[in-house]
Parts: sequence; C-alpha cells; structure tokens
Amino acid sequence: MSTINRRHFLTMTAGAAAASMVSFPMMSSAATKKVVVIGGGSGGNIAAKYIRMADPTIEVTLIEQNKYYYTCFLSNEVLSGDRTLDSIRFSYDGLKKYGINIIYSQALGIDPVAKKVSLQTGGTISYDRLIVSPGVDFKWDAIEGYDKSTINKIPHAWKAGPQTLILREQLKAMKDGGKVIITVPPKPFRCPPGPYERASQIAMYFKHHKPNSKIVILDSSQAFSKQPLFMEAWRHLYGFGTENSMIDWIPADEGGQIVSVDADSMTVYAGEFEDEHKADVINIIPPQVAGKIALDNGLANDKGWCPVDSKTFESSLQKDIHVIGDACKVKMPKSAYAANSQAKVCAAAIVADFQGKEMEDPSYLNTCYSIAGEDYGFSVAAVYRSKEGQIQKVKGSGGVSPLKSSAEMRKRESVYAHSWFTNITHEMFN
Ligand SMILES: Cc1cc2nc3c(=O)[nH]c(=O)nc-3n(C[C@H](O)[C@H](O)[C@H](O)COP(=O)(O)OP(=O)(O)OC[C@H]3O[C@@H](n4cnc5c(N)ncnc54)[C@H](O)[C@@H]3O)c2cc1C
Repeated sequence: MSTINRRHFLTMTAGAAAASMVSFPMMSSAATKKVVVIGGGSGGNIAAKYIRMADPTIEVTLIEQNKYYYTCFLSNEVLSGDRTLDSIRFSYDGLKKYGINIIYSQALGIDPVAKKVSLQTGGTISYDRLIVSPGVDFKWDAIEGYDKSTINKIPHAWKAGPQTLILREQLKAMKDGGKVIITVPPKPFRCPPGPYERASQIAMYFKHHKPNSKIVILDSSQAFSKQPLFMEAWRHLYGFGTENSMIDWIPADEGGQIVSVDADSMTVYAGEFEDEHKADVINIIPPQVAGKIALDNGLANDKGWCPVDSKTFESSLQKDIHVIGDACKVKMPKSAYAANSQAKVCAAAIVADFQGKEMEDPSYLNTCYSIAGEDYGFSVAAVYRSKEGQIQKVKGSGGVSPLKSSAEMRKRESVYAHSWFTNITHEMFN
C-alpha cells in the first residue's frame, strides 16, 4: 500500500483556537491545506491515511476519543469464545509513520463558519476540510426500560470492547437450558447481517457447551440480510425448523418488535399485544442514528442520518464537511468495507479538489462475510456507481454465495472472512 503513487490513488476507486489553538511541531511549514478527521474507525483512518499518501503537503489531523479501537467485525467470535477480545483491539501507533497528527480527545463541537472543531481536552483545531466518520449512536429513548443505565445488565455489544466482554461473560455464566434473547432494531442499522451472525455464533458455543439452551431473535423487520443462507445454516447446524431448534426467529408480524424491557425481572415485551418473553441473557441491539457529533452539529436529517453528495461525500447540509461510514445516508450497507470504500473516494475527491483536478467517476465496493458455524462462512458482495446523484448498485455485480454449496466452499469462505479481517485491519492501523 505504501508504494501507491498519487496518480494511481486519484484514479483508484476502492480496494483524520481561539486562545488555545492546538498545534503540532511536526507540521511542515510548506503545508497548504488542513484536513481534520473526526473518528478513527473503519472510515476515518482510511481517509486520513490515503490523503497523506496522495499528497504529503496536506496536514491531516485525526481526532479519536479512545486510545484503542475494538473492531465490531468478528466481535461475534469473541461471544462464542473463538477469539479473544485482545485479538480485535488495535492501537493507532502504526498510523504515525504517515505523518498523521493524532489527537486523543472527544470532538465536542463543529463551527462550520469559522471552520473549527472544539475538543473535550480543550482548545480548537481549524480545518479547510473536515471529514466526519463517527459511526452510529443509539436512540436511548426508543425502548421503554432501556437506557444507558441498563447496559451493564442488558448489554448491546453493538460497539465492541467492554460491552462485548460483558455479554460473553453472561453467556459463560448462563446455565445449560437457559434462554438468550437478541432483539433486532428497525432498519437501517450497523451491519445488517450482524444480529443473525451473532445468534449463529452463540448457537455454536451452546452446541458444544450448553446444548439444551435456546436463542430467540425478536426482530423488528420481516426479512433480513442473507436470510436464506442463514436459515440453511441454522437447519444444517442447529436444528432450525424442528422442535429442538436452538434458534427461533420471530419476525415483526408475529410479534417480534420489542416495545419495552424490565431489567429486574429480565423480561422483554414485544409485538402488538406486548407478549412477555423471559430470558436469562438479554442482548438488546438498540435503534440507531448517526454519531452524536453529526447530530449535534447540523449534519443529520430528521431521521438521524447525514445526506451527502454521492461523489465526494460532502454534506448536503454543511459546506466543506464530508460525512462517511455508518453515519452517512447512502444506498450502501452500513459496513466496515463500505466505510473503507467511501473513505477512499472521499479522500480522492478532497485531494483532487485541492489540486484543482477533475474527480474521476468513482465506483464503490462492499463485501460482507458471515460466519455461521465452524468452517461455515458465506458472503454478499456488490459494486456501486454514482448515478443521477445517488449511489446505486451496478446491475449484475456481486451477489450472494449460492445455497447448497459444498462443505469445502463454506470452509473456504470462512477462511476468506478471516483473511479479510487481517487485511482490512492491517490497512486501517499500519
Ligand atoms: C457485531 C458486528 C459485526 C460486524 N461485522 C462486520 C463485518 O463482518 N464486515 C463489515 O464490513 N462490517 C461489519 N460491521 C460493521 C462495522 O463495524 C461498521 O460498519 C464500521 O465500523 C463503520 O465505520 P465508521 O468509520 O462509520 O465507524 P466506526 O468504525 O465505529 O468508527 C467511529 C470512530 O469514531 C470515534 N468517535 C465517535 N464520535 C467521536 C467524537 N465526537 N470525537 C472523537 N471520536 C469519535 C469512535 O470512538 C470510533 O473509533 C459489524 C458491526 C457489528 C456491530
């Protein structure tokens, strides 16, 4: 990656005051433009890195609130005990060699007129262009009985890290014969196949360690990503469709949509008639919106997502601010792969603009693997182009893994999934 040249990068499509301004001794005095990136995740890191690789005269500052990043991707394998939390934890040290200035602080506010970002640690930092990639936030008032005070007892584990560990410990402590409830929020949400991969990974753990246990998915929707593939896997591996199925799926029209939860009695109420579901472990995946910094600073629409230009990711609501990743409103899944692809397009657009060049017509990619059991993987992939001001799937591109594939093929896809993880995290942090 480090051998990439500027021309290749620009044509490539896919693959971070007032009285106390923050300053960096390493910044070149010849620097002409300043880009600030909020959020050091799947989108932000890649945008910061690719801008520096394309044009080292551009000063790039990455603002990230945490010292370490825990990937959500493959965090479901931590729940099954197949990998450790440490294996999904990454530091930002590897990005320093690109000359990216890293500030560990929460970005508190954006002044789009003065073009400054204020920091929780104090001071402000100015930009010519701002890239915002804060991921998602949760609608804390959407489910009666569920808010920030309940997440240690009823974890969401939808932002990886300590939450992942809480859920893992609860699963380990649960008696054989116990019941787990996973609630799936209304669309759109981060990682459309994620809840079903989570159910599969937990079932894999139960199959070996607590075979009399059950997982009930209470869904706010009628259908889900890679549904035929998941159901085939569940039939094959976990008795789905039989009386002894380890996984039950309750769609919205059969009473799947969560209404409220009582953490004391560990009871979820769902559906029109508020059916009562008791469980030993409850995993509520809350309804989602763009990260708070985007919501608080006029970047989001009334649904909580950020409209952007499909070729540059510049906000439709605020000039010179670009929004990428889960927070932006485009017709791509909210995935790390999509955020990575968007980051490269956004970086290329900013560099081209600074250099007075025409931005090429970009294409965008997404591939999303799911691991439903031991040596059992499958995927969905698509290529997208910008057409009539919208990102649209290219007809006939990509597709999903075929049903009734051989065991060899399923095994190969789980190897690909792990290899994808190695590659994308290497690109993000090295
Ligand atoms: C269980 C699960 C499994 C998944 N599996 C996959 C998968 O297999 N493949 C895939 O492609 N995707 C997967 N995803 C989705 C993927 O994790 C996200 O889509 C992706 O990380 C989004 O990138 P992002 O840059 O928008 O946000 P993030 O990667 O979440 O990065 C946002 C960063 O911004 C920081 N931040 C937020 N606000 C501020 C602020 N105000 N100041 C400073 N820093 C801030 C956060 O700390 C964070 O580091 C999965 C998600 C989950 C929950």
